[in-house]
Amino acid sequence: MKADLLVIGGGLHGLSAALQSARRGVSVILVERHFLGRHASGATAAGVRTLGRHPAELPLSLEAADTWHVMKDLVGDDCGFTACGQLQVAEDEPALAKITDRVSRLEADGFTHERLIGPTELRSLVPDIAPHCLGAAWTFADGSADPHRTIRAFRDAAIGAGVQILEECLVTRLVRRSSHWFAETSKGAIEAGLIVNAAGAWADLVAELAGDPVHQAIRTSMMVVTERTAARVRPVVASLGQKLSFKQTAQGTLVIGGGAQGRLAPDRQSASVDVVALAASVGAAVRLFPAIQGIRIVRTWVGMEAMTHDHLPVIGLSHRVEGLVHAFGFSGHGFQLVPSVGRAVADLVCQGRTDHDLGAFDVTRIATERAAA
Ligand SMILES: Cc1cc2nc3c(=O)[nH]c(=O)nc-3n(C[C@H](O)[C@H](O)[C@H](O)COP(=O)(O)OP(=O)(O)OC[C@H]3O[C@@H](n4cnc5c(N)ncnc54)[C@H](O)[C@@H]3O)c2cc1C
Repeated sequence: MKADLLVIGGGLHGLSAALQSARRGVSVILVERHFLGRHASGATAAGVRTLGRHPAELPLSLEAADTWHVMKDLVGDDCGFTACGQLQVAEDEPALAKITDRVSRLEADGFTHERLIGPTELRSLVPDIAPHCLGAAWTFADGSADPHRTIRAFRDAAIGAGVQILEECLVTRLVRRSSHWFAETSKGAIEAGLIVNAAGAWADLVAELAGDPVHQAIRTSMMVVTERTAARVRPVVASLGQKLSFKQTAQGTLVIGGGAQGRLAPDRQSASVDVVALAASVGAAVRLFPAIQGIRIVRTWVGMEAMTHDHLPVIGLSHRVEGLVHAFGFSGHGFQLVPSVGRAVADLVCQGRTDHDLGAFDVTRIATERAAA
């Protein structure tokens, strides 16, 4: 099999890069070792959040935010995106001071996406919120989407653009020879001029195969979904300093996450729920919304993804190996970035450069020594 570009990883970042490269005339094969969306992209809370982003991520995040509002133009479906807004609540004075400081700094830098609100406005947005909450940062244009609709829409759009998708296809060896990559996979050999490494929690293994070793950790974020309950909360709600993100779906179920970590299996291939850590997240949700006490949990799960030491992703060209573009390490907040990162990666694939400043995402900061041959 032969293509201009081989994308390794069938999560949303692989699909977005494949789609946006193919739309510019590049022939693309995308390989996924399991099935599309099997890992982080299928396990995600799917929060579409500019709120509280690291300043280095803001340009990509704000570009992505614009696309989420017109997602149909990119992939033919709105992906279930609802602009229900996001709140980051302050439960005490130090949290309020931090949020106030951040919003002031953003405003001083000319950003207007976050607004500080006081207790009265907070209660008008979420009447059930506990009385001790002092205020919040509010992003009315943020929201959340349906992860499975998003995966399906990106898959269909990618296939429509000519991307060849191979599922149950594991890349096991990569060799660079005469300006070409030769990939050995469980479904045969693939030759390509360029590779995009979008292998999520296993991106370090792919980087190693390609001769550009890196150090990353694996996040194992847990989620909870409850039985249906009466409508109480419209925005997505987080609490500064707590591992909590809380939302209610259109069906009435409550979805609770926020980064509480499960247990990683020693072979790094799977993870399981840590009930004690999960109870802390659920406790934080009950503290914020006392009325949900007693609602039954229906399902819990864990999602795995790559995490860097500074929690910023790795996006950009390898400096050690020709023809390799990295897009991984989203550290628990990559869902919202899918449309803009896919565009930046397609820029690198098609032009070798992008107008986005990717300096903070350079692979060098997590590079490790290459093993002696
Ligand atoms: C529980 C949870 C909640 C989250 N909530 C949010 C949120 O609210 N908002 C937000 O913005 N982000 C959130 N995130 C983060 C977001 O979901 C991820 O950043 C994003 O989905 C990562 O997509 P990806 O394509 O990089 O990785 P993945 O979806 O993990 O895809 C990588 C794929 O590569 C494949 N692969 C690996 N190695 C190989 C190989 N050698 N050959 C072939 N295929 C290979 C894997 O099987 C995998 O399917 C959350 C994540 C989790 C886990």
